[in-house]
Amino acid sequence: GGEVIMPLVYLLLSLLLITYKMPLLQPPPAKYGGRHTVTLIPGDGIGPELLNHVREVFRFSCVPVDFEVVHVNSAVETEDDINNAITAIRRNGVALKGNIETKHTMAPSVKSRNNLLRTSLDLYANVMHCQSLPGVQTRHKNIDIMIIRENTEGEYSSLEHESVSGVVESLKIITRNNSLRIADYAFKLAREKGRRRVTAVHKANIMKLGDGLFLQCCREVASGYPDITFDSMIVDNTTMQLVSKPQQFDVMVMPNLYGNVVSNVCAGLVGGPGLVPGANYGHVYAVFETATRNTGKSIANRNIANPTAMLLASCMMLDHLKLYDHASSIRNAILNTMNETRLHTADIGGQGTTSEVVQTIMRFIQSKGQLTSEY
Ligand code: ATP
Repeated sequence: GGEVIMPLVYLLLSLLLITYKMPLLQPPPAKYGGRHTVTLIPGDGIGPELLNHVREVFRFSCVPVDFEVVHVNSAVETEDDINNAITAIRRNGVALKGNIETKHTMAPSVKSRNNLLRTSLDLYANVMHCQSLPGVQTRHKNIDIMIIRENTEGEYSSLEHESVSGVVESLKIITRNNSLRIADYAFKLAREKGRRRVTAVHKANIMKLGDGLFLQCCREVASGYPDITFDSMIVDNTTMQLVSKPQQFDVMVMPNLYGNVVSNVCAGLVGGPGLVPGANYGHVYAVFETATRNTGKSIANRNIANPTAMLLASCMMLDHLKLYDHASSIRNAILNTMNETRLHTADIGGQGTTSEVVQTIMRFIQSKGQLTSEY
């Protein structure tokens, strides 16, 4: 009997281990010669110049990625451009993008192009890793927070109406399905990254049904992850705790709008919008951009934007494509460059230009500058 049972036990154990270790999203396979095609959406403001720098650095590092550039003109009313971009992402599986400007003069039912892209591709998880960077002067040190934001519903439903003049109703949608899957994403990621605690952020004391459901789903999912501590915090207290003692947070999971606010607070804590990368994942597609999704219109074309966030976003993309060596070589070069404080761009207190920073990064790539700390 043992001869039959033991192999079966082994098989079961290894299956368990495989599911336990299963990554969250597999990238599309490489093409002939190991090359990948990625959709590149330059966007508005500083997007095009920053993405040109990414291409420059990729070329310099011989990264096996070909970009398919898709322009989205935010000045026209039609959605043809954004639909083309969405089709291109469906084809390539992966995209890197600048932020597309949103005109506030459009009808309320018109979703922002960025939002349309995320919802059409069902990129339900927005992931931002906020970590203190070397060489950047900030009030708080040793911050290392992962923010998981629900990316498709909540306050971003674009369902607003003024049926009675002077009374606007704005619908916030919270569903059990989407709450369960974002909570599960957060716990899976926490486990994969060796994190210990997940904090759900909510306002269930006021929005008892909507946020109550979100919180309940997080609790349910948490019970399946006994190795990870779960707690919850009301959003107002969370923002206060963040600006006074940010080191207390590990992984945070929250609905869409709180995620927007909290991720901007966190970006500010580690040095601002020019430093932090962000990613949007679904079950099939992945789109990378800067974490706070700024257009940076007022500083466009002046060679003063901080290229760090977009370059780090491109490294997240390389990790996703399993091009780990390229990712860490570029990332190390970025971190080494951060230590050269005289080169800092104006947003973090320096006088350096975008291209000087990028040139230095490429020099570090060439010299294979090694930095021990892991970003
Ligand atoms: P506005 O539309 O208000 O004129 P903006 O479009 O430049 O300005 P946002 O895109 O919301 O504004 O950016 C917010 C702030 O962050 C701006 O002051 C912008 O200059 C700054 N910022 C955003 N990205 C970067 C970056 N990569 N480097 C330096 N500063 C940045």
